[in-house]
Amino acid sequence: MHTKTVDEKKCNKCGLTKAITEFYFQKVKIANSIRISPYPHCKTCQKKMTIACRAKNKKHYRDYRKVYRQTHVDQIRFNSWKSYHKNREQRLENSRKYWAENKERLAEKRREYAREYRRKNRERITASRRLYYLQNRQKAIDRAKESYYRRTAKHEPTN
Ligand SMILES: [Zn+2]
Repeated sequence: MHTKTVDEKKCNKCGLTKAITEFYFQKVKIANSIRISPYPHCKTCQKKMTIACRAKNKKHYRDYRKVYRQTHVDQIRFNSWKSYHKNREQRLENSRKYWAENKERLAEKRREYAREYRRKNRERITASRRLYYLQNRQKAIDRAKESYYRRTAKHEPTN
């Protein structure tokens, strides 16, 4: 007959009697005093249970999210819309604030930049202005011709 010693414990999971070092311990509160007591199952079983539990939870969580996505399409869409707009408001507010606080400085900076740009690109600006003028003059002529032809074509059937 097997006599149970303090150093051995039967696992209630796998049913094996193992050395007490094969068990994890936990704090158990019994009648206002805390005792250190071994878990009812051995370390090997504990590990297996933890892995199984984690896998189960993972699958459960994944399934839950999948179902949630399917049943809350509008809610999810609304939430993302809401958060986008909330952030958008915040962003606008921030930029408004920044603009208000730095109005003078920014305006001066812009003027300075424009002056600098003009100074550096005087020739290029003059050239592109001339080009723009020429192009638009040509365009205006083309438009005028086109509308003239269209008008005359309307009154005189070609066949
Ligand atoms: Zn066990």
